[in-house]
Amino acid sequence: MAPTAPGSQDLEWGAAEPEARALAGTDPHDAPVLLLGGGLMGLAIAHQLARRGRAVTVLSRRRSEAAGFVAAGMLAPHAEGLAGPLLALGRASLERIPAWVARIEADSGLPCGLRPCGIVVPFTSAAERDAYPTAAYGLPLDRSALERELPGIGPRWRSGLLFAQDGQIDNRRRLMRALERACAALGVRFEEGSEVLELLTEDDRRLRGVRVRRAEGGEHVIAAAAAVLACGAWSARLLPALPVRPVKGQMLSLQGPRAALERVLFGPGIYLVPRQDGLLVVGATSEPEAGFEPGLTPEGQKQLQQGIADLLPEAALWPPMERWWGFRPGTPDEAPLLGPGPIDGLWLATGHYRNGVLLAAITAELIAEAITAAGQGSGANAALLAAFRWDRPFSAATAAAA
Ligand SMILES: Cc1cc2nc3c(=O)[nH]c(=O)nc-3n(C[C@H](O)[C@H](O)[C@H](O)COP(=O)(O)OP(=O)(O)OC[C@H]3O[C@@H](n4cnc5c(N)ncnc54)[C@H](O)[C@@H]3O)c2cc1C
Repeated sequence: MAPTAPGSQDLEWGAAEPEARALAGTDPHDAPVLLLGGGLMGLAIAHQLARRGRAVTVLSRRRSEAAGFVAAGMLAPHAEGLAGPLLALGRASLERIPAWVARIEADSGLPCGLRPCGIVVPFTSAAERDAYPTAAYGLPLDRSALERELPGIGPRWRSGLLFAQDGQIDNRRRLMRALERACAALGVRFEEGSEVLELLTEDDRRLRGVRVRRAEGGEHVIAAAAAVLACGAWSARLLPALPVRPVKGQMLSLQGPRAALERVLFGPGIYLVPRQDGLLVVGATSEPEAGFEPGLTPEGQKQLQQGIADLLPEAALWPPMERWWGFRPGTPDEAPLLGPGPIDGLWLATGHYRNGVLLAAITAELIAEAITAAGQGSGANAALLAAFRWDRPFSAATAAAA
């Protein structure tokens, strides 16, 4: 069991009302911080806050449903063809990832499975390749160079872009576990099986706590002057003003020969991510219409199978190891909602859609810095944070697509 963080408090209205009120009235910039959600963002931010000496409690409804355990773990701002402020955020995060991972590995004693292996995006023509939004960041490949990088690639791919600076991390088997252990080692307190039912405010303006249902039963109020909303795809259930919607994704993995593929292969609508041990992670469907409908579907799995045959025909014969699904936290412009929320004392770290693994390092830094630096942070980081305010304008076109 994780040790209790010094200074962390878990008070219930009624039994301990005076203390609870006192805590709720403290300055949010010194107060213990509640992390609402124990997925990738919850853990990454808890880790950064704990390293800065803050008392942190993570309230997690269900560890296993976190998209952090679902994702393929691509670190791909260039291969994804991101643009504008999201590309800048992604590149800033990519730059920080080696040091971020080193800190998690040092605090946990566990490897995170970071693999700076490069990512290749294939195209059917050179013209298509040259029009790719991030083409300027990649090395152009013709068919023979493509075959050298990706032996066995399907015949219809005639050219490609190699983004050697992109890579992958084994989020599902390694990073999430290492983050949990690093947090526990730094004194972060965990409440697994605790669902936050409601945010409690004073006059709708200032956070005073949350109402929670615990795994053992019963509802409780936990007083808090500072909290971070990191509930992933479920975030709008607590704060309906947030434009966050689930985008379901189905995945599978195959066991290939070790080193059959060295680079990630990022095709249109499907990608193949080779882990060090020969496991090939295959993703992913994109099903906004599915809402929170759980489970695999024959159509989804067939789509992945067809994608494998198209990208790397020989892999269609490799044995499937696992099939799973999860929910991306989508937003109208596919970029996260970061920074202060509509309630004083409540911070937002949600809506990371399909790039949350990539963006975890920068998100944790920006949010921890803003919380500990009385709200603003400074310089370049403050500017980055400002670009992802939750109430930025979303165009009609992007809103319709969400
Ligand atoms: C199929 C798929 C493939 C992906 N591939 C990649 C990739 O290759 N690269 C990449 O960068 N990103 C990828 N992503 C995106 C990435 O996984 C997410 O952006 C990221 O995990 C979001 O982190 P999060 O902490 O916001 O949400 P999650 O990791 O989903 O965590 C949210 C947590 O909040 C908890 N919670 C929800 N409501 C409550 C409540 N009321 N009370 C308490 N707890 C609550 C949930 O139980 C959950 O554990 C992928 C996602 C999917 C689904």
